[in-house]
Amino acid sequence: MDKSKIYLSSPHMGEEELLNVQEAFATNWISPAGPFIPQFEHDLATYCGTKGAAVVQSGTAAIHLALRLLDIQQGDLILCQSFTFIGSSNPILYEKATPVFIDSEAATWNMCPQALEEAIVDLEKKGKRPKAIIVVHLYGMPAKMNEIMAIANRYNIPVIEDAAEALGSYIDGKACGSFGDFGILSFNGNKIITTSGGGALLSDNIDALQKARFLATQAKENTPHYEHLEMGYNYRMSNIAAAIGVGQLKVLDKRVAARRANHDFYFELLSDIKGIQFLEEPTGYFSNRWLSCITIDPLITGVSREDLRLALEKENIESRPLWKPMHMQPLFESCDYYGTDFSEKLFQDGICLPSGSNLTPQEKERISSQLKVVFSC
Ligand SMILES: *Cc1c(COP(=O)(O)O)cnc(C)c1O
Repeated sequence: MDKSKIYLSSPHMGEEELLNVQEAFATNWISPAGPFIPQFEHDLATYCGTKGAAVVQSGTAAIHLALRLLDIQQGDLILCQSFTFIGSSNPILYEKATPVFIDSEAATWNMCPQALEEAIVDLEKKGKRPKAIIVVHLYGMPAKMNEIMAIANRYNIPVIEDAAEALGSYIDGKACGSFGDFGILSFNGNKIITTSGGGALLSDNIDALQKARFLATQAKENTPHYEHLEMGYNYRMSNIAAAIGVGQLKVLDKRVAARRANHDFYFELLSDIKGIQFLEEPTGYFSNRWLSCITIDPLITGVSREDLRLALEKENIESRPLWKPMHMQPLFESCDYYGTDFSEKLFQDGICLPSGSNLTPQEKERISSQLKVVFSC
């Protein structure tokens, strides 16, 4: 039997991407300049319903630029969802600002609005006002944005929305990445669409996006020689990557449909088992189901998430524990945290199952038989 590796989430190209790359070659637009860059920016903004987008080399770079645009200084407090990938929080350290981590809640696994407000009120009592909120839509599930934006507006704190995993997700038809002052996307190789590596900053603030492009181009002034008044970065996306992105965006809806079908496949297989839980969509929420995740109560199922991971690995099937919360990371040991042990429990009992939009029926059959062995179902 075929035992080739089944990946958690691998790139999935459509038909147009290669034609676009060939066009970029034929016209010699190989550098971080060329017609696919403004086109990709235009197409992303249209898709997400923002006034504009600026494409860059990674999602992490986009978050970093958002912090620069908000004029974050050394020692400023940034409220950041704890249950996330480190790309959300590393840029806080780039600016020598101080992260304060916020727990997640059960309905979306994302930032708990209650814990967020608790943190703001408590810090206020200590005479400190946070300078930004970084909220994340993990695994494609939208965070409680209506509640979080209401709190942010009440206390007048800008919001950076990390939608790296949530392109194609919505609340009541409004796209993830379009709620906050800035939204960020990632086109890393494992994401729902990829440019081999890349990211974007979304906003309704056209001037801020123009400033982002300036900062991403070494903050080079508009002079014939190289004139610099402030510190910038080399964060620009290449025209080749943008060429791939333009093609990938056209198949995004198909990718979302395939990822959602993966979720349904696991749900059908496992949802009747006592002790296994899925993250269901609250009313009005639409998840791209980037990764299909479950939590397993080992006391009920007799199987820990690590038992399952190892059993799948034995069959050359990749799976992965849910994100280890930032407040549990040695790097962030000294940082404040508001919440309970909810995100810690997600890490302890949660696992991401193979979720590529290119999983074949044969691969699903291999996954299904091994899951049936593990849970004797
Ligand atoms: C992937 C990801 C990022 C970072 O994106 P890169 O393009 O890899 O830099 C940030 N936040 C989350 C939640 C992500 O999943």
